[in-house]
Amino acid sequence: MTTSPETFEFKTEAKQVLDLMIHSVYSNKDIFLRELISNSSDALDKRRFEAVKQPELAATGEYEIWIAADAEERTLSVSDNGIGMSRDEVQEFIGTIAKSGAQDFLQLLRAQKEQADIPELIGQFGVGFYASFMVADKVELVTRRAGETTATRWESVGDGKYTISDGERDEPGTTVTLHLKKTDEEDGLKDYTQEYEIRAIVKRYSDFVAYPIRMNVERTEVERDEEGKPLHDAEEKKVVKAEQLNSMKALWLRNKDEVSDDEYNEFYKHISHDWNNPLLRIQAKMEGTLEYRLLLYVPEKAPLDMMMPMEARKHGLHLYIKRVFIMDDCTELLPDYLRFVRGVVDSEDLPLNISRELLQENRQVQRMSKGIVSKVLAALKELSEKEPEKFDTFWREFGRVFKEGLLQDHENRDALLDLARFHTTRSGNEAVSLATYIERMPEGQEAIYYITGESQARLQASPHLEAFRDRNYEVLLLSDPVDEVWTQYGAEYKGKNFKAVGKGEVDLGASSETEKEEIEKERAEKSKDYATLLETIKSALDEHVKEVRLSGRLTESPACLVLDEQDISPQMEKMLRMMGQEPPTTKRILELNPTHPLLEKMKALQEKDGAAENIKPYAELLYGQALLAEGGQAPDPAALGKHIAAVMLKALDNE
Ligand code: ADP
Repeated sequence: MTTSPETFEFKTEAKQVLDLMIHSVYSNKDIFLRELISNSSDALDKRRFEAVKQPELAATGEYEIWIAADAEERTLSVSDNGIGMSRDEVQEFIGTIAKSGAQDFLQLLRAQKEQADIPELIGQFGVGFYASFMVADKVELVTRRAGETTATRWESVGDGKYTISDGERDEPGTTVTLHLKKTDEEDGLKDYTQEYEIRAIVKRYSDFVAYPIRMNVERTEVERDEEGKPLHDAEEKKVVKAEQLNSMKALWLRNKDEVSDDEYNEFYKHISHDWNNPLLRIQAKMEGTLEYRLLLYVPEKAPLDMMMPMEARKHGLHLYIKRVFIMDDCTELLPDYLRFVRGVVDSEDLPLNISRELLQENRQVQRMSKGIVSKVLAALKELSEKEPEKFDTFWREFGRVFKEGLLQDHENRDALLDLARFHTTRSGNEAVSLATYIERMPEGQEAIYYITGESQARLQASPHLEAFRDRNYEVLLLSDPVDEVWTQYGAEYKGKNFKAVGKGEVDLGASSETEKEEIEKERAEKSKDYATLLETIKSALDEHVKEVRLSGRLTESPACLVLDEQDISPQMEKMLRMMGQEPPTTKRILELNPTHPLLEKMKALQEKDGAAENIKPYAELLYGQALLAEGGQAPDPAALGKHIAAVMLKALDNE
């Protein structure tokens, strides 16, 4: 079946990325070749991997990458005998950017007008293929999926459209051909048809690629005698020979001092598809019952897909067994909370024919995973001590994900809490460690206090914090969704419990048991005093709250809402609902500030009239404003508005 050429428009986001690329003043244009080689190398990995299960998909010859240049035609092509793409896959992979968040990110970039951010653009989207348009005004791709008999041809001049038609290819694999722009050294456009340019770029960016990168080179040869001396009056002959341009040396096998930072960084970019340098590199040779080597990296920037479901993410750890590539994205070797780590693990012990299913159950893999985790945690600890600024960057980018470990990895909980950083009522912009928090705890403070909610600003303004501020007690402001969860499970650090400021009864500042008793006695007396009022308010608010009581945590605001120790918070409830669960609705407790003049006045009103009806609107107002103060929504905003207006009228009448 043949189909005629069809023309398509790039999807909006892809078009924008392409535009940014074509008009970019980004001077390092050489990297287009690195991207093409990386794609080829990935495609070869995939074919090799798929051929383990389906041997008929294996290549007949050696897996390799070919570069061909034609100085007259001004073309440069990169070919591979990798997995190739079907027509549908070409449609799906080239011409579309499926990543969510792409639109926002592009807008941000355009607002900045920072052309130098092209690397970030590409790193975020994984659109390395488009880099070709920095150096070419037309790009062609001919590809055939392993296992299929037909080939597909894709081409575009980068004007927002591309054409797809039937192609021809004898063997599975992909060839990308660039019709190069004019050489323009000033604009960073070298003559990419020249052997020495190609050689230099491959050496610099792709030396460690695990497949031979070959090119036909022309050499002049003279006939020689047995000793290698040119024969007398021999003629010079031009011969074309295939040469391998890369050394294929696995970096993780080489001694640290033989490899430059530059090489390590290029390797990182190759395996991660990131265009920025990594933030941290972790190398180790593990010996003992299990032997394996690690070359791991922590990126400098969180990729857009980090918070997406597992299936949508890619480029994790590469697993090698005895130097043979087995798979990329080996999720079994790293717990989910370290999913930002990239790199290579090379094992001496695992069987070469291991499949994904077997990996999951393999005990050695589980032991390796433990070893890898402790290496990563130790490296992060060292970073926090030696290069705190870099560590702050790490925390800003990955802290949210890292904290998931407090739920997933109980064994390392202490180490994770050591590394965790928190914003607090005192920390300002800089997040602090728990060690710092404990160090500056005033005398008498027993627990680590925290508050959870949706934003730092709202938390800072919460009435729950009043008494804590008064006593100079620092409170952790936890605003990531995961904070709701890990704090639920009786967290503890260095013998100190975590306590939610919005849960249970709070008695602060009692420096001794006797003082505590006194405070309690005083409150009990007051509560007796206010008993009727508290009851009236309770029955007015029966559908919303389970108890009304006097508060030990308020100093300024008249009221706030709190939970019992074991209750789940409203945010947690919301989260569970979002996850499709139906948690029971917890009624909270309304706490009133016994030192606020309002209470006195309400009590007087009640004693004067004695009718609950008069108290009801005020009770509603107290409840409504307690909700608003914590950033919540009143259950019936319109009714609350009416109450406010009525009360204002009364107040104004008395002016
Ligand atoms: P990335 O490689 O970061 O995913 P690219 O824009 O470079 O982004 O490539 C998009 C997709 O196109 C790749 O993920 C891959 O599926 C496919 N692709 C690109 N080049 C090749 C190739 N040489 N062989 C097979 N598939 C390829």
